[in-house]
Amino acid sequence: MPKPTGITLDRSNKLLLITWDDGQTCRYPLQRLREACPCVECRGGHANMGRTPDVENLLGLSGPGDSLLIPLTRTKSYEIARLTPVGNYALMPEWADGHKTGIYTWTYLRDLCTDLEDALKKRDDSLYKPLSE
Ligand SMILES: [Zn+2]
Repeated sequence: MPKPTGITLDRSNKLLLITWDDGQTCRYPLQRLREACPCVECRGGHANMGRTPDVENLLGLSGPGDSLLIPLTRTKSYEIARLTPVGNYALMPEWADGHKTGIYTWTYLRDLCTDLEDALKKRDDSLYKPLSE
């Protein structure tokens, strides 16, 4: 599994940039990162736990009719106050509104990256634009 070699928070462009030891570079719009928060609270409680996080659902890429695992708690902040590494396997962002229970494993971040890159290739720019409030 690739590991990050560099993690940069680009506050002016609201992007998290991660370079990996296999040469890949990923950029995550902070809003998408927050929407994809894998914690119990954001995923709608324990009813949804035990299911493998479905990145397509998290990103709203699934077609209508699919049960979307959208956050039940409306997110308040897309600003990262602090980034904390968790062991050597994950990253824990603390958002400006104090939310910091989401632990983003390297595997999860890579899955997220792949989907964002795919969306970019398909010229689905909506993933890179801020969601409407
Ligand atoms: Zn969360």
